[in-house]
Amino acid sequence: MEIKLQTGSSKIRLNVGGTHFETFNSTLKTFPESKLAHLSKHTNHFDSEKNEYFFDRNPILFAFILDAYRKEEIHLPSDICGPTFRKELEFWELSLSHVAPCCWEALYKSDDDVKTVNKLMDNYKKNAHFCMTQDNLSACRKRLWMFLEDPHSSYFAMAWVTFMSILVIAAIVAEMMASLTDFKEEFSEKEKQALDLILDMHGDINNETAKRIYAMKPNRYLSLTVTCCHAILTFEFIISFIVCPIKRDFILNTVRTPLMFGYICFWVTYSMEKYFLSLGPTVMLVYVICKYGTIFKIARLFYLSKYVPALKVVGLTFAASISELKILVFLLGVLVCAFGKSMYSLESIHNDDMNNLFATSYWALITLTTVGYGDMIPNTKLGHVVAALCAVCGIIVLALPIGIIASTFNKLYNFNSYVITHVRRNKDVLSDSKIRKGTDNAEKDSDGRRDKVYNVNRVF
Ligand SMILES: [Zn+2]
Repeated sequence: MEIKLQTGSSKIRLNVGGTHFETFNSTLKTFPESKLAHLSKHTNHFDSEKNEYFFDRNPILFAFILDAYRKEEIHLPSDICGPTFRKELEFWELSLSHVAPCCWEALYKSDDDVKTVNKLMDNYKKNAHFCMTQDNLSACRKRLWMFLEDPHSSYFAMAWVTFMSILVIAAIVAEMMASLTDFKEEFSEKEKQALDLILDMHGDINNETAKRIYAMKPNRYLSLTVTCCHAILTFEFIISFIVCPIKRDFILNTVRTPLMFGYICFWVTYSMEKYFLSLGPTVMLVYVICKYGTIFKIARLFYLSKYVPALKVVGLTFAASISELKILVFLLGVLVCAFGKSMYSLESIHNDDMNNLFATSYWALITLTTVGYGDMIPNTKLGHVVAALCAVCGIIVLALPIGIIASTFNKLYNFNSYVITHVRRNKDVLSDSKIRKGTDNAEKDSDGRRDKVYNVNRVF
């Protein structure tokens, strides 16, 4: 029953999910393209008995939809999940363009969260537990893989990881001690001759440097400790590779790839040292290159991260903060050039330390990063002013992206714990794409930025 009012507009009765709403017909014409603007008594929605239109939708959300007709713009409830409300708008044939700017955050915020959860899920699926779901593996291989990869799988696994972690620390401490002069040994005459070959390859090395290098032989017991630790660590690495269910992921890994390279270099140099005295110049060059390559062994430190699985969030944070890091590098670059150039113009005549642009740019970088060695100081009054400005700019520029990176870490850390809890309580989520369902639109709406930056190898 449509009641004619004095204004000339008629009232209309709507039943949404059992809750009754009444409004003027003219109100519903606010958005002419919408479903409510074209209500007809000849559709299934019209109930002729009760003389009302029935819609099987959520009445709480409909209150906001109807309010939008009165206010001529759409506002979202602050606690609503964006995709849910978008589906509601889609049903009522309302365009997203009517959403007021104050509510854009509520409308799109969840998309980012959904993508974060999906990436964390992908990351989770690559862990040791997920590999267990592969059917083509023998039970023995699965058990060995879990034993090596997941310290929380059994007490023995925990004991093994503890032992391996002690080896990693022992190797590092032994290497550090070996660098102390108190633990050095003198090279023999024959070894010195071989060292001369290496020194020749380095070009101009004065006697003083040569003398220092001659006194660089590490203590034999410390060397033996380092070798033994590395033998066991390399053995474990090879066994892990053999039993690993997904070889490709094992090789293309941000920690294991450099570690593998480091181990290869270590054993190449180790075997060469046995025949040190008979090596030719070319082989000696290979030795020198490999010696530098052994630095990649430091990746073994990440072995210790098995104790703290959430540490992988740090890696994901950096991957997700690439745009912020780009801003940081860009701003620092601009400021280094600007302050380096102005300092050069002001100081080059008065100051021997700052007589070239490289030196002043280096000074600008050290000042901007708030390190400030104090090895170069301006002499002129204007130079002091520029230095003060440079120091203040440094604080501001560093604070901006670091705050964003910290909040990204906070968000990922929280979401990671939700993902772990969710997977533990609902084992089946690993086998299908439940989370992805219904979020395809969110993926399509995005500008693709986050998709790209989250696409990283498993870090640990
Ligand atoms: Zn609003």
